[in-house]
Amino acid sequence: MTDTKYVYSFGGGSAEGRSDMKNLLGGKGANLAEMANLGIPVPAGYTLTTEVCTYFYDHDETYPSSIEAEADAALAKVEEIMGTRFGDADDPLLLSVRSGARSSMPGMMETVLNVGLCSATIPGLIAKTGNPRFVYDAYRRLIMMYSDVVMEKAAGVEPAEGKGIRQQLDHMLEEVKESKGYGTDADISADDLKDLAERFKATIKEVLGRDFPDDPREQLWGGISAVFSSWNGKRAVSYRRIESIPDEWGTAVNVQAMVFGNMGDDSATGVAFTRNPATGDNRFYGEWLPNAQGEDVVAGTRTPNPLNEDTKNEQNEHLPSLQVAMPEVYEQLFAIRNQLEAHYTDMQDIEFTIQDGRLWMLQTRVGKRTGTAALNMAMDMLAEGTIDSRTAVLRVKPEQLDELLHPIVDPAAEKTADLIAKGLPAGPGGAFGQIVFSADDAVEWVKAGKTVLLVREETNPEDVEGMRAAVGILTGRGGMTSHAALVARGWGKCCIVGAGVLNIDVVGKTISVDGRVFNEGDVLTLNGTRGLVYAGQLDMVDATENPRFVDFMKLADEVRVLKVRTNAETPDDAATAIEFGAEGIGLFRTEHMFYGTGSEEPLFLLRKMIMSGSESARRAALVELYPFVKRDMKATLEIMGDRPVTFRLLDPPLHEFVPQSTDERGELAQALGVSVEDLDRRADELHELNPMMGHRGVRLGVTFPEISEMQFRAILEAAAELRQEGKACFPEIMVPVTCAKAELDDQLALAKAVHAEVCEKYGVDEVEHLYGTMIEIPRAALTADEIAKSTQFFSFGTNDLTQMTFGFSRDDIGGFLPDYLDKKILPVDPFQVLDRDSVGVLVQTGIERGRSTRPNLKVGICGEHGGEPNSVEFCHLVGMDYVSCSPYRVPVARLAAAHAQINHPRD
Ligand code: ADP
Ligand code: MG
Ligand code: MG
Repeated sequence: MTDTKYVYSFGGGSAEGRSDMKNLLGGKGANLAEMANLGIPVPAGYTLTTEVCTYFYDHDETYPSSIEAEADAALAKVEEIMGTRFGDADDPLLLSVRSGARSSMPGMMETVLNVGLCSATIPGLIAKTGNPRFVYDAYRRLIMMYSDVVMEKAAGVEPAEGKGIRQQLDHMLEEVKESKGYGTDADISADDLKDLAERFKATIKEVLGRDFPDDPREQLWGGISAVFSSWNGKRAVSYRRIESIPDEWGTAVNVQAMVFGNMGDDSATGVAFTRNPATGDNRFYGEWLPNAQGEDVVAGTRTPNPLNEDTKNEQNEHLPSLQVAMPEVYEQLFAIRNQLEAHYTDMQDIEFTIQDGRLWMLQTRVGKRTGTAALNMAMDMLAEGTIDSRTAVLRVKPEQLDELLHPIVDPAAEKTADLIAKGLPAGPGGAFGQIVFSADDAVEWVKAGKTVLLVREETNPEDVEGMRAAVGILTGRGGMTSHAALVARGWGKCCIVGAGVLNIDVVGKTISVDGRVFNEGDVLTLNGTRGLVYAGQLDMVDATENPRFVDFMKLADEVRVLKVRTNAETPDDAATAIEFGAEGIGLFRTEHMFYGTGSEEPLFLLRKMIMSGSESARRAALVELYPFVKRDMKATLEIMGDRPVTFRLLDPPLHEFVPQSTDERGELAQALGVSVEDLDRRADELHELNPMMGHRGVRLGVTFPEISEMQFRAILEAAAELRQEGKACFPEIMVPVTCAKAELDDQLALAKAVHAEVCEKYGVDEVEHLYGTMIEIPRAALTADEIAKSTQFFSFGTNDLTQMTFGFSRDDIGGFLPDYLDKKILPVDPFQVLDRDSVGVLVQTGIERGRSTRPNLKVGICGEHGGEPNSVEFCHLVGMDYVSCSPYRVPVARLAAAHAQINHPRD
């Protein structure tokens, strides 16, 4: 047979395993071994490795032949260390059987405590402890856990809803408490517990048709097998899917001597964090319960006591702290806290039990934390010299920054709030305000000094001004990439989309839901981070008030090689983005100047240009439009100074700008000196069946060269003037929606001619700029070697590239994407996380081919993916020079780029 070692012992001041053996021993087993090696008091035990689990599933749920002998030898060691024997009638050792996967799967797998209690061992334990209440309390817990975990779940029994054995027994326990007037579990008498245990066993026999085992060894192996089986339990399997944990990993099983927190008032159990996991404060933080066992602390049946003064709050301040109740044990625990932190150099989440005044450690692992806490702990530990700056950078997840940049709904207030709907968390943070149902109302109410939430069935570009004015946006329809979601995220504005249970009547100005009606002016609160809608006003907490954020981001910037730009088209957005650390503008959408504040006049002139019947009329309209375009471009260039600005030529199909209202049409017809009928005919000509793939982007410039010329002139003159004024500026001209080198040559000829004229006008030899293109059509990526001959930079437009690669219309995926995600046809929304298998291949191919003909080709990405950490990592891996994202995502991208460089160094 093999000589694989399947069992690892720990306890008595040493262990066969170590903390770096998580793959083999699971997280819990590896850390129990580590604590034992550190001389920390850990009840002795042994770990059956994850390889046993793998064997178990490969061999029809049986064990390797050597396992029994190995486990028996390990059990003998435990008996020796603890001085008691498993199954002994006079002085029995009891065991816990605990699961332990590589990465923690909280609450997903099973634990059985007090294994070994049976008719043969109960009298001995009572005689030894003189505490029948404790023994029967332990016994009834064993019966409850064992019947649930081993006899029901692992046996594959599927009870009807609410009829699980655990629930039935819980119900019996509650009945006893109620009929006898006991306040908590700890008040139940020994006799009642004894009686309950007998009735439990009878119920189990009746419900599950089997006897509760009375043999310690049968209990032990039943427990071990049940933990291995729980790896394939429904909950564990679906948790693994969500967290992408491979099925092959398997779980380990830890068998450990029991220590008892339920032996009386000198006994207790507790959980703690070495620092505050919500704030990051360097203060020991935790909860404990006297005379309790196992999960009582987190089960919520009794309010746990505070660990110390620092942990007191409104709910628990009347209860004694461990610091006061057992000062010596507390001191010992505090010393272990310091020892564990120093050893693991990270905040630990620990479990402990006190038996008759003696402290035992049962678990330690790296603790989960909020974004604020992650930041504070990283900076504190750096200052303390516990970790280096790279480690500090890795300690905050890019997504956690979201939380640091937006006010959020006070989690305490949220607990008791009146939840009325759940939607998709489209824009982060929290907001409350009076509801209004149109963009115009939003603008007006805000002018009148009110705070509003804009409520719409869905939004479109005409709502933008109202969306800007509102503090939050709520829609009944739409997905995470709907218009409302994109815009809100871009601004970092709180937004919930697709709250389908709400009946939104924008005409009647009401929301009805569950028989309740909310009218215009009523106050709602949105939690955009979680997609929750509440009635009334909840408090907000401002998470940005942390000066350490800036210092932390400096550390990240020192590491990263990928530059981070922003998508911005107004001087305001540009200024915000600079504050967030943007190193340039990667996407200035020219069409944006035709929406929003101050857009009336340029929009009118643009419409005039579009509706012009002839080239000469169009040129005349363009001359009028020109100063507005140049003005915005110049202002943005000026604000960005020596940072580059990529101007994308007019991208959308022209008909998007055709006026809809009769008034507007009349006015325009008059300005053009044509009839409204003529105007309508022209509008019909512009109508397209599939505008996304229609006459747009570079195609406009090819058929109407004068439109491109006007834009080239605006960009180059703005730059020439700034340079004349002695100011730095770096414009980059970007041609959108290209699929062929010849398109770029066609436009380049125009640009060159305009450039010559501008040089002449300003008396200079050159107006420095770059000429480049967006790569957003698969053909462009595939012919990038050719395209690069005519362009100095590429910017991958991965929104459209994803749309064209998948054949999914970005605006219409709401109808099917949720099902695709539910059915796991797609792991994630490809518009949110760049699909490396398809779009990624096109991007990588495009870069390689582009650089094959132009080695110094500058490459970036613009579009939503540029601010999504996983996609940013991809951009780093394929050698891009920069990513560009909305202003509020800039810090996220900076941090993601730093992580990418630490994890996958390049250059
Ligand atoms: P989880 O992985 O869900 O945290 P654990 O294996 O940590 O499960 O077990 C849950 C709880 O059972 C522990 O927090 C501890 O209170 C209790 N427990 C586990 N093993 C022992 C033991 N040897 N002695 C006393 N209590 C134990
Ligand atoms: Mg635990
Ligand atoms: Mg595009």
